[in-house]
Amino acid sequence: MLDVVKKQLENFHKNQPEFHQAVQEVFEDIHDFYTDHEIYERFAIAERMIEPDRIIQFRVTWVDDSGNVQVNRGWRVQFNNAIGAYKGGLRFHPSVNESILKFLGFEQCFKNALTGMPMGGGKGGSDFDPKGKSDLEVMRFCHAFMEELHRHIGPNIDVPAGDINVGTREIGYMFGHYLKVENQFQGVITGKGPNFGGSCGRTEATGYGCIYFLEEMLNAHDQKLKGKRVIISGAGNVALHAAEKAIAEDAKVLCLSDSKGLLYFKDGLSDKDLKEIKVIKTQNHGALKDFKGTAGEYKSGAEPWDIECDIALPCATQNEVDDKEAKKLVKNGVLAIAEGANMPLTAKAQDIVMKAGVIYGPAKAANAGGVAVSGLERTQNAEMRSWPLQRVDQELREIMKDIHKRSIEHIERNKEGVYNYRKGANITSFKKIADTLVAYGVK
Ligand code: NDP
Repeated sequence: MLDVVKKQLENFHKNQPEFHQAVQEVFEDIHDFYTDHEIYERFAIAERMIEPDRIIQFRVTWVDDSGNVQVNRGWRVQFNNAIGAYKGGLRFHPSVNESILKFLGFEQCFKNALTGMPMGGGKGGSDFDPKGKSDLEVMRFCHAFMEELHRHIGPNIDVPAGDINVGTREIGYMFGHYLKVENQFQGVITGKGPNFGGSCGRTEATGYGCIYFLEEMLNAHDQKLKGKRVIISGAGNVALHAAEKAIAEDAKVLCLSDSKGLLYFKDGLSDKDLKEIKVIKTQNHGALKDFKGTAGEYKSGAEPWDIECDIALPCATQNEVDDKEAKKLVKNGVLAIAEGANMPLTAKAQDIVMKAGVIYGPAKAANAGGVAVSGLERTQNAEMRSWPLQRVDQELREIMKDIHKRSIEHIERNKEGVYNYRKGANITSFKKIADTLVAYGVK
C-alpha cells in the first residue's frame, strides 16, 4: 500500500512536499491496520483518500489605496465530504500554495473525524499578504475573495472558517459580502462576530482546547500542568489563547514569538502583560517588539526551542520545529509537546521526540478544539440560538476528553509507558472515513 501511495504522490502531486509529508505520515501509521482489512485494498481506499474531491482556483482582483489594481490567487480545496459538509479554515499568507492547502485539507479530514462531529475536510485561502495593508484594503480584498467563493459554499456544502491572518475582522468582511450577494442569512462560515451568529468561545477554542488536550495527556501519564514551564511559539490566535489558559491552570509561560522575534519572560508571563500583547497583535496588528512592559526581554530573530522547559507548544506554522530544534528540546528534558499549529514538527523532528519518550500530541488531536467549536457554531446557527460561554467551554472540555479517548482506542502504551497519540489518532480517524467510503460503494 505504501508503494502505491508513494507512486500516486510522485506521479500526480509533483513538487508538493508539504502534501507528501502529511500523507506519508498518516499512511505509515495506518499501514498494518490497512493491510489487516482486505476490503480497504479492494475498494482502493488509500488511492481515493489522497485525491481531493475537487480544487477550485480563482483570481482575486481588488484595488489598493493608491488606486492600483492588484491580482491575487484564491483557492478552496474540497478534500473529502464522506462524513459531513467540507469544513476547514481560510489562510491568507504569501506562502499559500496548492501543496500547503492540500496538506491542510487532508489533515483536516482526519482532525474533523476525530472530533466525533459530522464534518468533512477542506481548506482554502490566498497568497494575499495582509501585512502592511490598510483596513480598507483588507476589506476590499475580502469582498473580492468572497465574490467568487460564495458560489462554492453553503451550510450543507462547505463551511469555511479562519486560519493564519484570517480572524474576526476578515470573517466579518467575508460574511457581510456573502450576505449581500446571496441575500441569505445562514451559517455559511464560522468564527463570526457574536452579533451575527458567531459562537461565544470560538476565538479562544483552539488555544484553550490545546491546553485541555495537553492536560488529558499529562493525566494519562500521571503528570499535572500546574507549575510546569511552558514555551509557546507564535503570538496569534492559537498561541495567545493557549498562553491564557496555561496561565489560568497555574503553569509558567516563558515565551511567545512572532515572525520577527521572541519575547522571553524569565519569571513567567503575567495576565496583565498578556493583555497588552493581545492589544498589540490583535487590535493594532503590530509586532512583539512593540511590547513596552519591563518583564519581557525581546530577542530579534530568536525562536523558543532552546529555552529549558517542561512543555513545548508550537503554535505558529508548519515545519517550524526541525530535527535540530527537536534535539534541543529533548536535550533540555522536555516532557510533553502539544501541537497548536498544523504540522509544526517535521517528520524527522517527530521521530526524534517520539523515540526519546516525549509525550507528543499531534495537531489533528491537540488543535481540534477550534473546528469543534466551529461545529458547535453551526449547531447554534441551525437552531437559531446562541449558547452562553460557560456551556460552550464545558462542551469543548468534554470534546477534548473524548478526542483523547478516541486517540488511544486502537493502541497500547509503548514499553516506556507512553502512548503514541499520532498513530492512535490516525487509525481512529482513518477507520471512520474509510468505513464510510466502503459503505457508500464506489463513488
Ligand atoms: P495567526 O495568524 O493568528 O497567528 C500566527 C502566528 O504565527 C503569528 O504570530 C505569526 O507571526 C506567526 N507565524 C506565522 N507564520 C510564521 C512563520 N513562517 N515563521 C514564524 N512565525 C510565523 O494564526 P493562528 O494562530 O490562527 O494559526 C496558527 C497555527 O494554528 C496555524 O498552523 C493554523 O493552521 C493552526 N490552527 C489554527 C486554528 C484557528 O482556530 N485559528 C485552528 C487549528 C489550527 P506574525 O504575527 O509576525 O505574523
